[in-house]
Amino acid sequence: ATPTALLVGTGRGAQLGILIKGPEVLESTRAVDTVVLDKTGTVTSGSMTLVAVHVADGEDEDTALRLAGALEHASEHPIARAIAAGAAERTGTLPVPEGFANVPGLGVQGVVDGHAVLVGRERLLNEWSHELPPALSAAKAAAEQDGATAVAVGWDGKARAVLVVADAVKPTSAEAVRRLRALGLRPVLLTGDNTQVARAVAAQVGIAAEDVHAEVLPEDKVSVVRQLQERGRVVAMVGDGVNDAAALAQADLGLAMGTGTDAAIEAGDLTLVRGDLRVAADAIRLSRRTLGTIK
Ligand code: ADP
Ligand code: MG
Repeated sequence: ATPTALLVGTGRGAQLGILIKGPEVLESTRAVDTVVLDKTGTVTSGSMTLVAVHVADGEDEDTALRLAGALEHASEHPIARAIAAGAAERTGTLPVPEGFANVPGLGVQGVVDGHAVLVGRERLLNEWSHELPPALSAAKAAAEQDGATAVAVGWDGKARAVLVVADAVKPTSAEAVRRLRALGLRPVLLTGDNTQVARAVAAQVGIAAEDVHAEVLPEDKVSVVRQLQERGRVVAMVGDGVNDAAALAQADLGLAMGTGTDAAIEAGDLTLVRGDLRVAADAIRLSRRTLGTIK
């Protein structure tokens, strides 16, 4: 490969809003046939809002919001930000937790106003033997049917509320998936979120249900990429989160959203500066064309 042709490629990349770690990166895109897309923050805007509050019999909404909001205020997860903002808006200043721990891929736990509080996936609450009462299970199922995320809240030994947050698919994502397919690439959706939400998002952007990997714990995202590689696929991965860093590094080509975390940008080979997924297709087309001129 002549260095000059590669450098021309990187210069054109900068014009398109693609930052390339080094000219050698383009080489690795040659044989890419699969593009793994993180869901939250990559295919969806990642800026969620609190859209509904459901409480168990005898509980009040403001208490649920205050306890959940106080804990989530200490987390940087997009779901946590939505809950903290929605809770503060409705209940005023949130208490400072007396204890806080992040449970990666599951939620948060801690102590607020003397109550032991859990906020996150139903699985997190189940681990502490909190079971959702039927009315809350039904509210959760209905929210997930719509492609929203239901967050369970428990305190003092019982599941007592379900908060619904929704995260819209970015207006550019369906077009981005079409462009990737037009390049002969197979798009795959990868997320820690539940299967129903993941499938609803996949359907909206045109990814087949069989290409959806949901409920994947952060440390297992890298395994999904590795398994695809073991089956002979050459994998590009697009992601934005701290959770995506290992998978971005494992992929044959890692593309980080410029709007994402430093950890993702650090781990990626390329950065999509404006966080526009359509540019992922441009990046792959550009590198193929650049390499084409070299051969
Ligand atoms: P993704 O892969 O979609 O970016 P994560 O792996 O970070 O998501 O989290 C997986 C799931 O765990 C989330 O979709 C959410 O249901 C739950 N979760 C994680 N962190 C939190 C939190 N702070 N509050 C509520 N739910 C959370
Ligand atoms: Mg993400």
